[in-house]
Amino acid sequence: MKRNVTILGATGSIGLNTLDVIRRHPDRFRVHALTASTSVDSMASLCREFRPRYAVMADQKGAEALFSQLADLPLTQVLVGEDSLCRVASDRECDTVMAAIVGAAGLVPTLSAVRSGKRVLLANKEALVMSGQLFMDAVAESGAELLPIDSEHNAIFQCMPADRIRNTLAAGITRILLTASGGPFRTFSADSLRSVKPEEACAHPNWSMGQKISVDSATLMNKGLELIEACWLFNVSPDFVEVHVHPESIIHSMVEYADGSVLAQLGSPDMRTPIANGLAWPERIDAGVAPLDLFQIGKFHFERPDLQRFPCLRLAAEAFQRGGTTPAVLNAANEEAVAAFLDGKLCFADIAVIIEQTLDRVATVAADSFDTIFEKDAEARLVAREQMSLASAGGVS
Ligand code: NDP
Repeated sequence: MKRNVTILGATGSIGLNTLDVIRRHPDRFRVHALTASTSVDSMASLCREFRPRYAVMADQKGAEALFSQLADLPLTQVLVGEDSLCRVASDRECDTVMAAIVGAAGLVPTLSAVRSGKRVLLANKEALVMSGQLFMDAVAESGAELLPIDSEHNAIFQCMPADRIRNTLAAGITRILLTASGGPFRTFSADSLRSVKPEEACAHPNWSMGQKISVDSATLMNKGLELIEACWLFNVSPDFVEVHVHPESIIHSMVEYADGSVLAQLGSPDMRTPIANGLAWPERIDAGVAPLDLFQIGKFHFERPDLQRFPCLRLAAEAFQRGGTTPAVLNAANEEAVAAFLDGKLCFADIAVIIEQTLDRVATVAADSFDTIFEKDAEARLVAREQMSLASAGGVS
């Protein structure tokens, strides 16, 4: 039986890599639905190639433009808006959903896939960071099959016994070693971080990714979000997870066992490996990834993360410890600050400053409903924008 796959965020880096794996296996996968925000031309050409049942755009203008481009493709129905994203994520005919919308915008459709018990391939880490316990409760209630796509979490998943990924104690696991590339500014001084440009932040040394995650990788917020993601996925506390900066990005993470064994998953830095792993799990399929040449790589290096120059990792760990709605506030403030940096309105080093100021100003409450989480997300965005206006007026540093 072919798997019927919906790809939320089909036009992005993860979406396109997912389609590349699917393209190699027409006998195994069929594209049920593709979604995008504004990339009409890219969606039109993907629809022509993959002939999905549905194509969803975020707004009416995009949907109308796509509809007119696909006039000769009557089998693909063009839909619009968040309700339609939820519909194609929860459709009875679809069994697998790649959750690859970037940021908080992915939470509602991803949750819809979870609640309808699909195999959910989770790339959109922000959804889990924002709603942690509620998200995992929804997974448990629906019986959804949640498989991590983030390369690190997929590596950890591969290094654990499949039936004990949320019971590390019973599995004899003593530590998770979460690797980090260190990003493009790993060796930069604190002073030089003030003048780095968005295009430098987006030029990751090892990975080709969307803009937002590239900046997160440069600030180490990505590792902070991943620390929180690991705690929820594997049911562990942050002190169980130790970040190791590994600039080669060949070891994607490791799991330490009580007998001293450390299992690692290695591979070229290519997201098609974890994507293929999730799509075909528990089987293995060709992902189109070049074989690893360890003779050419020669050496591996490891460093501790520098929390002075890269405070975002510390802020994320603290936010998780504070609990409640704080991780949602952290995520919202980060999204606002990163957008402002990419827009040339905030300096790189002030991303962390704005996040910390927002965390200080937005009260933590219990994350007892998704409505509460969305309210705090909105409040944090307002506060972060206020802080950035004050900063640009010279009021705050
Ligand atoms: P991209 O920015 O490349 O792609 C984002 C996708 O989401 C695009 O299809 C975009 O559509 C769509 N989108 C953006 N905003 C909205 C919105 N408001 N409503 C609906 N759709 C929207 O991101 P990435 O592929 O890099 O990352 C996606 C997710 O995967 C992120 O959560 C990231 O952290 C995670 N991830 C990414 C990795 C990578 O290698 N890229 C690795 C590990 C995790 P459009 O093209 O029209 O803007």
